[in-house]
Amino acid sequence: MSVRLLNTASRSLENFTPLDPAGRVVKMYTCGPTVYNYAHIGNFRAYIFEDLLQRHLEVRGYAVERVMNLTDVDDKTIAGCKRCGVPLADFTQTFKDAFFEDIKTLRIRPATHYPAATAPEYIERMIDMIKTLQAKEIAYLAEDGSVYFRIAKFPRYGELAHLNLEELRPSGRIQSDEYEKEAVGDFALWKAWNPNDGDVWWESPWGRGRPGWHIECSAMATALLGPELDIHCGGVDNIFPHHEAEIAQSECVTGRHFARTWLHCAHLMVDGQKMSKSLGNFYTLRDLLAKGYSGREIRYVLLSVHYRLPLNFTLSGLDAARAALERLDAWVERLQTLAGETLASKEHPPTPACTRFLEALDDDLNISGALGHLFDWIRESNRAMDAGSVTALLAAQTLADFARIQSVLELGAETAAVPAQVLALVEQRQAARAARDWAGSDVLRDAIAAAGWQVKDTKQGPQLTRV
Ligand code: AMP
Ligand code: ZN
Repeated sequence: MSVRLLNTASRSLENFTPLDPAGRVVKMYTCGPTVYNYAHIGNFRAYIFEDLLQRHLEVRGYAVERVMNLTDVDDKTIAGCKRCGVPLADFTQTFKDAFFEDIKTLRIRPATHYPAATAPEYIERMIDMIKTLQAKEIAYLAEDGSVYFRIAKFPRYGELAHLNLEELRPSGRIQSDEYEKEAVGDFALWKAWNPNDGDVWWESPWGRGRPGWHIECSAMATALLGPELDIHCGGVDNIFPHHEAEIAQSECVTGRHFARTWLHCAHLMVDGQKMSKSLGNFYTLRDLLAKGYSGREIRYVLLSVHYRLPLNFTLSGLDAARAALERLDAWVERLQTLAGETLASKEHPPTPACTRFLEALDDDLNISGALGHLFDWIRESNRAMDAGSVTALLAAQTLADFARIQSVLELGAETAAVPAQVLALVEQRQAARAARDWAGSDVLRDAIAAAGWQVKDTKQGPQLTRV
């Protein structure tokens, strides 16, 4: 059965097929962080949903080429660098580094490309796109040197968000703060320099200025993935105006259908309100690590609720995640002990529970259903082990199936750093085993145990766990 996804554009569940004629490569664009501060865990909910999507598509045999942009110029980054008295690039670098560290902690698979909006090749592309729009009279220059997109020229504007935008259509010059605009819904493609921008500006045919946020994504997406994407993701707050604007700009420049499938995750909530910087009700990943929670516990919480449902964040949710992961770890350890050195047969049919898990994810990433199947499996498997009816071979096959599930969940136990002296003993033991010196190997096993580590021989090589 194919993967089915609820497309925001059609509001219906659609069978997913990539544009690639070979049906293999999936081109996916995901709106990334604005690097003016540490990302909060609401942002990471969006990135973890995208990670789950990518990993599931990969388990289903697709090769995902994913772009996540870094918004490293906007009002917030400019205000931040002014406040700190450092150049914009230095200011944003701190938060880019933090972001990459955080996604590693959360085990988010890196995207294929992380373009930054201020890279000269993208600024150049943004300017070129705006020039094209201006030549088609879709963009217009305002008196202050800013350039706006004329939404009246794109009748489908508002379609993604299912909005009736009649009231945003021009009816003479409107009075607003942005008085240069012809219509209130027109959005900025290029923002003319003003004194608040300090030394942040680029030269353009319209004078000094900087790009608008929406054109950044259109330029980076089409530069790296071409004019047509398979999937475009973000949080629900991105639907309007950001994604609507991306569609309008990209399609008016390329004449092609910008993105087939649009997916949006609901918000991470705190006491009924969206977690956000402006409300001050947020936790960064670092705040939670400092409270003693691990990256994988936080990953579990952010992953465990269907992406289209709001997720209410609480610290007790993290404690429940810890308990669930302990159950998972105990089950895996029990199976490993039972399996010993037995290998799963390559031909074994997948356990029905594993099939059910993956099929639940085929259904628009139904993670709660999938986790339900997983924990049912754990309960039944534990019962069978209690009854002594699990052979070493069955344990090995269960572990092999579970490894498939783990390639999607990525929730395996943290491996503690192994001291160098223990690693040296393990190497000596490997050499003894290669020389069929079983007595020597046993002595070394005891020495490793005395140092506080247990060594298990698996087909991937020796595995160490803390005793
Ligand atoms: P920003 O850095 O604000 O541009 O947001 C980056 C991404 O995080 C976007 O895709 C947002 O939709 C998403 N996002 C922001 N706040 C939340 C939240 N509370 N829950 C889920 N996603 C969020
Ligand atoms: Zn974007």
